[in-house]
Amino acid sequence: MVDGPFSLASALQARQEQGLLRARNCSAQVIGTRMVVDGREYINFSSNDYLGASQNPLIRSAWQAGLASWGAGSGASPLVTGYTAAHRELEEAIAEWLNVEAVMLFSSGFAANQAVIKSLLAAEHTVWQDRLNHASLQEAGSQHCCRMRRFRHNDLAHLAALLAPAQGLIVSEGVFSMDGDQAPCAGLQALARQSKNWWMLDDAHGLGVHGTNGRGTLAYQGVGSEQPDVLMATFGKALGTAGAFVAGRRELIDYLVNFSRDYVYSTHMPPAQAVATLAAVRWVQSADEPRAQLQAAVRRFRQGAHALGLPLLPSETAIQPLLVGDSLQAMTLADAMRARGFWISAMRPPTVPKGEARLRITLTAAHDEQQVDAMLQALVQEWSRCVHD
Ligand SMILES: *Cc1c(COP(=O)(O)O)cnc(C)c1O
Repeated sequence: MVDGPFSLASALQARQEQGLLRARNCSAQVIGTRMVVDGREYINFSSNDYLGASQNPLIRSAWQAGLASWGAGSGASPLVTGYTAAHRELEEAIAEWLNVEAVMLFSSGFAANQAVIKSLLAAEHTVWQDRLNHASLQEAGSQHCCRMRRFRHNDLAHLAALLAPAQGLIVSEGVFSMDGDQAPCAGLQALARQSKNWWMLDDAHGLGVHGTNGRGTLAYQGVGSEQPDVLMATFGKALGTAGAFVAGRRELIDYLVNFSRDYVYSTHMPPAQAVATLAAVRWVQSADEPRAQLQAAVRRFRQGAHALGLPLLPSETAIQPLLVGDSLQAMTLADAMRARGFWISAMRPPTVPKGEARLRITLTAAHDEQQVDAMLQALVQEWSRCVHD
């Protein structure tokens, strides 16, 4: 091979040697919680489809109806001709649901987080981020020209020590995607107000799942009356479709519509997707039954794991990590579970901190008791075989 400017082969080899090489697995078929990969069937304990919404008949048929009225795509970016009544209706429904002034849509949560951080913060600003914030937030903060300070996970005292008055944006997830625990929202809000900084909440894993009418982590914690300056969440998790929104005061949304290059120069989400997501937003508000089913699955898993002596992290949410530590052992355990028909992803650095490789088990409303019990039985046997000091 000709030497070029990029050392791809050696980067890949180094990852391989560290047990960190990643590859995609292609599902040939998905039926509820079951999926087929390479001709074998697995029970999926790795999806973020917490309420089973991706297979919901109402949402599926709304997508088909949207397709019939609007066609396959939006045809342009939102400031050209890609913004339709379907998008506006979804924005208004979210604003009403969450009691916010204004909402705008993005094709992905990754893009939404880039858009907010890159368009709000300039060189004289600072973004304060929880150490465990999602890669899309960290990436925007570290690649952009602003300063970034990271505070210890959920540590308000550490954040307070790093804050400077009126200089930027505090950012946290509502439910942390790799640990399943929740941010201290009232404390973040108080620190932001006292220091005259803004704060932003990424509630990708809380929206739809937690709080009255699925309003998310803020409602769950009783902090819903005063919203964060920037609220962001995605449609690809509990809502079952894809895409994301940013919500806040009208001025914030007008500003982003004008100044966010990630928004202005990107083809708008297909209107049919907005129609489907609107159906999901309406459905999720009264989805108390799937929310209760999810909580029952979480309880059953935690009680079972506790009885079997598995080391759980303190998470009450659908995200139930099992800390292994060593990346290779985490991989071996995930492979062993796969051989027994359970699909559970091993999370390794750089997705999680060094030495904190884990299995990230996610439970959903669609898992039944037998599936949870069978997974636990396999897990306890494979754990003793695969994990050691
Ligand atoms: C999934 C996720 C995102 C990214 O959203 P996509 O729509 O998948 O791009 C952003 N933040 C958090 C916390 C997430 O879990």
